[in-house]
Amino acid sequence: MHDGAKTRDELLQELLLARAQIAVLHAGHEAQVARAREPTLATLLANSPDSITLLDLEGRLVYANRALSARPVEELIGTRAGDHLPSQDRAAFQAAFEQVLASAQPLTLDLRTVSGYVWETRLVPVKDSGEVFAVMAIGADISARKRAESALRESEEKLRVALSATGLGLWRLELSRKELAWDAATSRMLGLGEQPLCRSLAAYEQVLHPDDRGRVLDALTRYVERGVYEDLEQRVYTPDGELRTLLSKGSPLRNSDGELIGFSGGIFDITERKRLEEQLRQSQKMEALGQLTAGIAHNFNNMLTVILSNVLVAESRVPEELRPRLRDAEHAARRAADMVRELMVFARRYPTSSKQPLDVREVVSRTVDICRTTFDRNIEVVAALPEAIGLVLADAGQLEQVLLNICLNARDALEGQTTPRPVIDLCVKHTAQAACSPRGELMIRISDNGPGMSADVKSRIFEPFFTTKDVGRGTGLGLATAYGSIVDHGGTIECESKEGAGASFVVRLPCIEPARVPADRGTGRSLARGGAGMDPKSAQPTILLIEDEVLVRRTTSTVLSTGGYDVIEAADGEEGLLLYDRQPSRIDLVLLDWSMPRLSGQRVLEELVRRSPGVKVVLFSGCYPAGDLQPNVRAIIPKPSAVDSVLGTIRAALDA
Ligand code: ADP
Repeated sequence: MHDGAKTRDELLQELLLARAQIAVLHAGHEAQVARAREPTLATLLANSPDSITLLDLEGRLVYANRALSARPVEELIGTRAGDHLPSQDRAAFQAAFEQVLASAQPLTLDLRTVSGYVWETRLVPVKDSGEVFAVMAIGADISARKRAESALRESEEKLRVALSATGLGLWRLELSRKELAWDAATSRMLGLGEQPLCRSLAAYEQVLHPDDRGRVLDALTRYVERGVYEDLEQRVYTPDGELRTLLSKGSPLRNSDGELIGFSGGIFDITERKRLEEQLRQSQKMEALGQLTAGIAHNFNNMLTVILSNVLVAESRVPEELRPRLRDAEHAARRAADMVRELMVFARRYPTSSKQPLDVREVVSRTVDICRTTFDRNIEVVAALPEAIGLVLADAGQLEQVLLNICLNARDALEGQTTPRPVIDLCVKHTAQAACSPRGELMIRISDNGPGMSADVKSRIFEPFFTTKDVGRGTGLGLATAYGSIVDHGGTIECESKEGAGASFVVRLPCIEPARVPADRGTGRSLARGGAGMDPKSAQPTILLIEDEVLVRRTTSTVLSTGGYDVIEAADGEEGLLLYDRQPSRIDLVLLDWSMPRLSGQRVLEELVRRSPGVKVVLFSGCYPAGDLQPNVRAIIPKPSAVDSVLGTIRAALDA
């Protein structure tokens, strides 16, 4: 025998052991199979995933196939089923139990256990010879389903809140049926009520703006070809005739074979965004135009100052027969000056110092009176004014001019028309809450039922010198100045108009608190010669005139000398400061041009005040600093100015 070899006896023993093990396994298997073939009722009940209990007529547990709570089954027998439920469910269970007994019909209800599980419970009457002697309660654990349902409800609620917060509408396009279905939010956007709707694509086409139809249909054809939906802007008319701009976003819908069957997505109302974009575009254009205009007007002012002042000086010295010629020249120069002033208002370079808290109704009423008394009787002027109204900070004169300009245009539009009942309608509204104004805003709407205007004309009406009226009838400055004034008041002015459908001008002004009344800062208007009533230190007050335009400087210097002043001339800010430093005590007043190259009027003023805090300054310019003026600035002389106004203002400033 070699090492490791087993003896015959050892092998026999191993064989017997293996056989015994197989026999044991085999016997166990047979017992299992036998048990599976003959299940007892108790085995079935014990293995049932449902909870099965039997209750007597008092609702006490007679049998339970499993523990209902942490307590073992034996402890449950004899207890009341209701006691195992959370207190808030007991009454519902009791009512259902009694109903089953009374009706002898099964009934299903959801019951929660104290540990938070939810059981869908079927109460089944157990009868003997037609008489109910017990109730069987079969409960299925639906906790997971309930949790899923509640999670779904929660996410649906979140989606609903998100949809309503963003104002998003939902839509779905079925290509095979050419049908478009949308939700209530989309119906609301289209002005079609509060219900979800389903319409044919052809019906939707009808609500599209005619100019957008072709583009929208082409885009849809393209999306179908490519199987991709791209953002699509579309203008639609509501049944009330209101035009709204909508933006739809979407993605393709495919069947299980991957074929394109439609598109679905969301839709937004972007009308307001579009309006604001247009307003921004318009105001940027106006700002650029304003700067250009201000530059031109500034040069014109200087030229007109020279012309007007020289004409006035010459008028008193030429022979009588030439005076009418000079008066004509003066008249023309003054008219030109008026136009330049209007341009300055448009460019917002003209001071509006007399803004005061104002009840707009007074201005509107005055405008209505003027229109009613001066317009053709054929034109009806109607006004709707609210009872209560917020105050605005405004220059009454300027605001009246704005409203009159708009009404005059409405009158011009209505005149010569065959409109059966021409009307100009002025309406004032106070909005307590406005996006741009925390204290609300006032809206003045002036509408007419005249011929309206084309989109082209509408886009240009606020430009200076844009007019469609005959030569001599329109200057194209009315709405440009209205625009400048309203923007200067912190408001907006917009026009809504369509060819053949009248025009509406909407002016919006921010409301103020009555407490915010600005102090009135008037300027002197008295007229006197320089020497009269002056400080005895000098018979002739001295004026330092700082003006870069040589002709303006020369003319103004002549006017001042003629008026009895000593004049020191400086050609720019630097020279002005140099001359001031040489003899500050001699200079009674500085007449300072505000718009100068290099050292600006603003800088010169700051330097002068730094040197002599009490220095008296009068500004001389066609354009003015925004906001409150420095206290040293005693007055502003607008360019061009007549001799009397220059002398009068200087006199008043010296006396003050
Ligand atoms: P003007 O009245 O001198 O032409 P405006 O600046 O006041 O200058 O008006 C510019 C243009 O705006 C007018 O020429 C006209 O074409 C147009 N417009 C203004 N208001 C109306 C209106 N109510 N109806 C039709 N067109 C108008």
